[in-house]
Amino acid sequence: MDRRRSEAAGRRRAGVAVLGLAVVAGACSSPVEPVDEGGSEGAIAYDFTLPRADLPVYRWPSGSTVRLLVAGGGDAERARLLADALAGAIAEWESALGEGVVRFAVTDRVEAADVVVRWSDAPAPVDLRVCEPAVRGSAATTFCPAPDGRGLLRFPAVGGAGGESAVRMVVTVLASEARGERRVRQLIAHELGHVLGIGRHSPDPSDLMWEGALTRVGPSPADLATVQRLYETEPDLVP
Ligand SMILES: [Zn+2]
Repeated sequence: MDRRRSEAAGRRRAGVAVLGLAVVAGACSSPVEPVDEGGSEGAIAYDFTLPRADLPVYRWPSGSTVRLLVAGGGDAERARLLADALAGAIAEWESALGEGVVRFAVTDRVEAADVVVRWSDAPAPVDLRVCEPAVRGSAATTFCPAPDGRGLLRFPAVGGAGGESAVRMVVTVLASEARGERRVRQLIAHELGHVLGIGRHSPDPSDLMWEGALTRVGPSPADLATVQRLYETEPDLVP
């Protein structure tokens, strides 16, 4: 079997399809409106299930710490932009999530990371060929079910880490988005919503998990109600 066919077969074994959760193309060219942080009473959760009948609900065990590694590439300025956006997005979610849901931590060791956050053109510390990111919009969160059906596929490490990695999700931000702190922070915050387990998009344009042009940098009351509901629901898939 030639290499290409072998890789295709490997992908089929890894899962039926890559679960790319992308911000739609409209988001990348639309002007970003001022944030309206006005409180909305009685926020209602929206549907958080993946559009897959076999694996509708994925989430981390309650109380988990999810470790993220920033792969910013060789450009120090772009690496800083990504790292700062991640720190801001983590603060937004953590200040809003209650105790016992999920915490985030940043690591620089691929062996310890659960999630890699990267620019689309930067070398990744894990082998992406096993579950290739498909970014149709400005950013995407990519993961694949493990071949044995238990949890998510672990991306093999590349370089000096000996092939072992705990990375199960890859957040990819298009390199062309590296032009503004607020924009990158919005995209990362949105993708962290997918990392937490929100498997589709909000129908309300004022929510962070809307799929079009984002107007906010942090989760809305409805986004929070959705995550709270998610973490009260038994998962079908635990990363
Ligand atoms: Zn999305």
